[in-house]
Amino acid sequence: ARAGAAIDRLTRVAPDFPVPGVLFRDLTPVLADADSLRLIGVALAVGFGPFDVVAGLESRGFLLGTAVAMAAGTGVLAIRKPGKLPGDILSEEFDLEYGTATLELNPSDVADGARVLVVDDVLATGGTAAAACRLLRRAGAAPIGVSVAIELGALGGRAQLGDVPIRALRLY
Ligand code: IMP
Repeated sequence: ARAGAAIDRLTRVAPDFPVPGVLFRDLTPVLADADSLRLIGVALAVGFGPFDVVAGLESRGFLLGTAVAMAAGTGVLAIRKPGKLPGDILSEEFDLEYGTATLELNPSDVADGARVLVVDDVLATGGTAAAACRLLRRAGAAPIGVSVAIELGALGGRAQLGDVPIRALRLY
């Protein structure tokens, strides 16, 4: 509850960003606050079954993912935007409102059968988190949950994620 209150209090809400009609929720001031960062790291780590590693989604999911991993005592894995990872990587494309985006993972970075908690700042349409889950499955891992600070309920992101449990600290 304290983590959710910190999100309510400190999130910057920006109308018409990045394009007209979008109400953008910017967690930067929340993450910059020491108590809030610690509370949110703990809160995002609980409520799921056991997991072996956290996957943070570029870019803001990296910041939160590390806080969650520290709270849970696990490592953190980076699921990245295209062209950032060397070696034999897996790619998953997904739809955005306009156009497409891609996420990438090096399957060597995740152990076979690893239970992975996916962490990001915001669940909107769910395309990003769903692509991360597909990447993890293709790499032989099991996404055991999606943990986000904020869920934008009107965009129906849950429907993209099938059976993967989703927890959000705040639903707007
Ligand atoms: P989705 O793929 O539509 O669920 O969008 C989620 C991705 O877009 C996440 O990685 C977020 O960082 C970003 N995103 C979407 N809406 C917002 C917002 O209002 N604030 C911050 N990030 C957002």
